[in-house]
Formats: sequence, C-alpha cells, structure tokens
Amino acid sequence: MPATRLVIKFGGTSVGTPAAIAQAAEIAAALHRSGHPLVVVTSAMGGVTDALLGAARAAVDGERLPLRERADTLRARHRAAAEALLPSADERQLVLDAIDQRIDELLLLCDAFAVLGEASPRALDAVSSLGERMSVHLLAGALRSTGTPAVPIDAAEIVRTDDAFQSAAPDLIETRRLARELLGALVDDAIVPVVTGFIGSTADGIVTTLGRGGSDYSAAILGAALDADEIWIYTDVDGVMTADPRVVGDVRTLDTLSFREMSELAYFGAKVLHPKTVLPALERGIPIRIRNTFRPEHAGTLVLGRSEESSGVLKGVTAVRHQSLVTIEGRGMLGVPGIAARAFGAVARTGASVSMISQASSEQSICFLVPQDSSAVAVEALRHDFEHELARRDIESIWTLDEAVIVTVVGAAIKQTPGIAGRIFGALGDAGINVIAIAMGSSECSISLVVEARDAEHAVRCLHQLI
Ligand code: ASP
Ligand code: MG
Repeated sequence: MPATRLVIKFGGTSVGTPAAIAQAAEIAAALHRSGHPLVVVTSAMGGVTDALLGAARAAVDGERLPLRERADTLRARHRAAAEALLPSADERQLVLDAIDQRIDELLLLCDAFAVLGEASPRALDAVSSLGERMSVHLLAGALRSTGTPAVPIDAAEIVRTDDAFQSAAPDLIETRRLARELLGALVDDAIVPVVTGFIGSTADGIVTTLGRGGSDYSAAILGAALDADEIWIYTDVDGVMTADPRVVGDVRTLDTLSFREMSELAYFGAKVLHPKTVLPALERGIPIRIRNTFRPEHAGTLVLGRSEESSGVLKGVTAVRHQSLVTIEGRGMLGVPGIAARAFGAVARTGASVSMISQASSEQSICFLVPQDSSAVAVEALRHDFEHELARRDIESIWTLDEAVIVTVVGAAIKQTPGIAGRIFGALGDAGINVIAIAMGSSECSISLVVEARDAEHAVRCLHQLI
C-alpha cells in the first residue's frame, strides 16, 4: 500500500522556541523517512503576528522610538533561533539574511505608517505576513539539518486569493493549479516544501492574509489542492477535548468527531478548528487529524470528512458566557406575521450577532441571545422599531437578562438515541439547576440551554457525566 500523502501544519507554539522548532523538524523528518509524500505548513513563531501588528499600531500612533525596540526584539528572537538550530555556517547566514530583510521591511512599512498616521488593510497584511515569512526559513533550515531535503516556499506564489485584505478568500481552482505545478514536482522528488501558512496573494501579486489563525486554513487549502490523504494539524494539545479542562476535572480527548460535531463545538466556543478553515478539505472527504507536537506518540483527534458520521455518542459540552437573553413579550403577537423578521432585522442593523433563538408555539414571546456588550443597543433598536406595538400594548415588554450562559451538548447521538433530551434535563433537574431557555436545531446534533452564570459550571460538570 502506498504511504499516505500528508500535509502537516505546525501552529505558533509548535514553532515558538528553538526547541519546539527542532521537535517539529524531527516529526517531519521521521514522516519523510517513512516514505510519506509530505508538505509542511508553518505558522509564525507564537506571538509574532500580534507583535507585528502591535508595531504597526504603535507606528500609526507616532511612537517612533519603541518601534525600533520592537523590531530589535523580533529580530533578536528569530536570530537566536537561527543560531540555535542551524549548525552549518552557510545555511545560518542565508537564514539570518532573510530575517534581516524582513525586519528591514517591517521598519520601512512602519516608518511609512508613522508619516501617514494610518495603515490600510493592504499594508497591514504586508506587515502581518512577515512572521510566517521568517519562521518558514527557520523550520526549513532545521529540517535540512536533520538531513531531510527541504525548501522554504512563500505561499504568496501558490495561494491565490481575492483582495479582501485581512480576511481574503482563496480561489481554489487557481490555487490547485499553482500548488500542483510548484509543490507537486518537489514532492515527487522527495523534497519537502515548507510553506508559509496564513498568507496568499492576489492575481496582481499583492500579499494577502486569510484572517487570524489562518494557517489552519492554508493547510486545508493545500491539502485539498494536492489531494492529500490526510491533513495533520500539530498544536499544543492532544486533540479535541470533551469539555474545558479548567471547568471539568475528568475531560477526555476524543478519538473521532464528525465535521458537523466539530462545527457545533467550534461555534459554541471549544478550542478547536474553525469550521470555515477546514471546509475545503472536508468537502473533498479529506480527514483532518489534530495532534500534539510535544506528545507525538498520541494519535490525536480525527475529524472525519464531511459526509461521514461518527459513532453515536455524546461528544462534548461547552459554555458560552457573557450573553444577554433578550425577550419580547406580548399577547398581541399571536398570529401576527413578521414580528420575528422585524425583531431580527432591528438587531442585525445594530451589528449584533444572535447566537441562539427560541420561540414557543403560543407565539407570545420570542427570546434570543446576543453578546452582553451588544444588548443595550439591540434593545434600544427593538424599542424603536416596535414603538407602535408597544404603545398599543400588542407587545407588553422587551427585557433582558444579563450574565446568561449558553450551555451546549454536542453529539450525533442526539439524533440517533431516543431519550437523550430526557437524560439531559433529568440530570439538570436532579442538580437543582434552573433552565431558562432551550433550543435544538433540526440538525439534531446539539442541544443548547440557557442558565444563569452562577449555575453554569455546575451545569457543565453535571452534563459532562453523560458523555
Ligand atoms: N500567525 C497567524 C496568526 O497568529 C496565523 C496562524 O498562526 O494561524 O493569526
Ligand atoms: Mg494559530
């Protein structure tokens, strides 16, 4: 059987220190030695993208002196990594030159921001792309030091995007062509391309970024373009956990998860991949495995391709805090069409995003949740738009409950197993926890319920016992 074709991606902590980079290189070298056709994608060293954007902001604000210091700190951090990782003097010099060039670019760009007093999204992408454009040399160099043939590749030459700077969308067809042309030949020659995550470029060659955390997206885009068999995302945890370990003592790492379950968990705040970023891969049926760079022997969590279902058990419980429950109440709402549409229209115009909705069939109240910091404006907009109905008492009141928490139980089991909802509410009832509102989507992959902040941790722990 031919060895699996892999795209593996290392996140910021996985390349955050010289020791971590050496470890990442060792993982890639071992896979290469076992004969896997391999493409590596890397993030910037942990914290570097933030530091670059911080420098840009400081420049816009006219702080010239701290700017030099910031640039020197970044330069020193990358140079120290090169010194620690690259025993060959020639190799080291090449990488040090590349680092110096990037830091000089940073200073030039920031000087321009300081003069102008502003930075366009396009210019900010030029700045934030610099982190990956340095780390890629360190990781490729470290990989070569293990005796593995490897070359650094700037994804601006491969990932073609639109010009929505700071959150560019990939052109998957053109990217597929470029990836096959530029990376395919290297992989066929058993050379490992080490590609910058996070960045791309427009058809005119202007650098773009795919949005913060975008190197996962890069890995999925390249995995799809190259028809990889699997994509491995290396991070600093063992995989997707059943709950937040700060809240629940006995959390477990999941072996497998369907795409839909992962989306629900990610949406409701678990620390996993963003659904949008993995879609290009899962749509083509390419599974994604999340693995720990620092515990490479652990198999991690496998996120299955889009159409596959995982086994029917509950997978996780999450909590989203600092929500406001907004309720619109009134007996005059019964059978009146358009109230919901107007309510959500009013909220949408304030820019608030609604995270959960529930309406009973009596139609005498609608309730939904918005982040607490948008609730005051949302309610003001509602009172304004329903002025007439409020005056006629068709709507009696519009009120909010702050510090609400949405607790969500996720798992395909909810669809497959009768009685799950009963067990969920039974467990909460036994624990004396008051449930304020409930929603279950017709995808039946999750049940969400709203509790008061003081009950939230207890509710999560209690529900976790069902998993
Ligand atoms: N370096 C980028 C960021 O910090 C992309 C990534 O790490 O995924 O957002
Ligand atoms: Mg990241």
